[in-house]
Parts: sequence; C-alpha cells; structure tokens
Amino acid sequence: MKYIGAHVSASGGVFNAPVNAHEIGANAFALFTKNQRRWQAKPLDELTVRKFRASCEKLGFTADQILPHDSYLINLGHPESENLQKSRDAFLDEMQRCELLGLKYLNFHPGSHLRKIDEAACLNRIAESIDWVLEQTEGVIAVIECTAGQGSNLGHSFDQLAAIIDQVNDKNRVGVCLDTCHMFAAGYDLRTAEACDSTFADFDQTIGFNYLYGMHLNDSKGGLNSRLDRHHSLGKGEIGLECFHWLMQDDRFNGIPLVLETIEPEIWADEIQMLRRFELGEVT
Ligand SMILES: [Zn+2]
Ligand SMILES: [Zn+2]
Repeated sequence: MKYIGAHVSASGGVFNAPVNAHEIGANAFALFTKNQRRWQAKPLDELTVRKFRASCEKLGFTADQILPHDSYLINLGHPESENLQKSRDAFLDEMQRCELLGLKYLNFHPGSHLRKIDEAACLNRIAESIDWVLEQTEGVIAVIECTAGQGSNLGHSFDQLAAIIDQVNDKNRVGVCLDTCHMFAAGYDLRTAEACDSTFADFDQTIGFNYLYGMHLNDSKGGLNSRLDRHHSLGKGEIGLECFHWLMQDDRFNGIPLVLETIEPEIWADEIQMLRRFELGEVT
C-alpha cells in the first residue's frame, strides 16, 4: 500500500499537522517539529506530545507514514569545528524531538563543504555527525535526502549518498529519501518509464532499495542537470506525469512516506487523488 501525503503546516502546534494531512485526504505527511529557519526552539511539552500522539492515532497515522524534516540551518558537514558542533547539537535536538513524538524517521539534507574542505572530507564529517547523534538517541532513523547539487551541497549523486552510508556504524538507523526534483536537477533522468527504470536500477545497485525510507514527489522547474532546487506541481514542470505514474505502479515504493512538496498547497488534495488513480492503474 502506498502512503501518500504532503509536507503540511504544523503552525499552532505539531498536533495540527495530522489534522491538516487528514483534511487533504493524505495517509502520510511530513512536518517540521520546530521553526525550520531558527536555531532555537522551546522544548516540546508533555501536553503537546500527548495531543500529537492522540491525533495521529485517531486519524490513522503510524510512524511509518510520517517523515519529519529538520531545520534548513543545519550543516552536518560544516568545515569549521565550532559551526559543525552547533549543527550537531541542533540535529541531536531534532532527533530527540522525534523520539519524544514517537516518530521513526528524521529527514535531513546531508551538508555542504562551502569550498573550504574537499568532498571526501565533507562526506566523512557528515557520517561522523550521524554516528555522534545515533549514539545518543534510540529508534529514530537518520534519513539523508538527495540534493539538487546547488552550490557546494553534497548528496546529489548516489555515489555520495552511498559513501556516507558506508561510513556510518549503525546501518540499521541510516537511509535515504529521494526527492524527484532534486534527482532530476542533479542529472538523473525521470521523464519516461524507461528513464525511471534505469535511474532506479542505478539507485538499487549503488545504494539499495533496503535503504529507501521515503520519497519527495515534486516536479521540477529546472531542466535535467540544471542543479536548480525549484519545485513545481506534478505535471507542470520538466519531469512530467509519466514519472509519477511509474512510481505509483511500482511496489518498491510501498510502505514508506511519499510526500508532496509541490508549490500549490491548494491543489495537494487533487494531486493526492491523481496519484491514487495512478496507483489503481488509471493513466490520467
Ligand atoms: Zn528537504
Ligand atoms: Zn525534498
């Protein structure tokens, strides 16, 4: 079964996210557990945690269907030690928030070398950051998102993601989230069923579907290999609908959160319905 949803608002409290997801007919969702543009957040209080858990239970969302996303400020591969530690501390806090909420995954962008250290050194730092955080937490899986490769961001190739996973000690608690817009912008073609076949065969060989814990379903404003992180609504960008039809028809994407981060929240309900029709084998 496919878990399909969107990155919904948690404004007013994390317990509002499952309600917002339910309202658009989703059976999966993503959320920020704190303001994604700030370093600090007040700790989650007991009532908030209880309300979140109760709301998820009532609306039928299990931890398998929820993919929290961390703050955009965190850089686990930061070249400078003081800033690296600041990022690690913030990431640990994010993991602990997920633990408290009873969540299973934390989705994050791997990091950037800022042109101050080389790629291999940065990938190594990212892996060390993941180890450092996993050692201090329990249960939550660190889910690395592939990037569009803009600026000095790493994680835009399957080889780079594999290199991080390779260096992480606890392989049971590390995995990846593939964002279709980022993949395409990073040079992985998804425009036809044949292109999807070969891109995901490459993924399976380099990383393996056993490490896939989530997908972000986005069309792309930028072209193939444009390195532009510009999402678009499904079917309105350079990727087109065939890719999303192909994904919905493939069982390897069952049982993990499939999350829209498309740019028109007002049509998320329609996009989810369209994906469900694709899952049933209909073509439009
Ligand atoms: Zn992301
Ligand atoms: Zn994404």
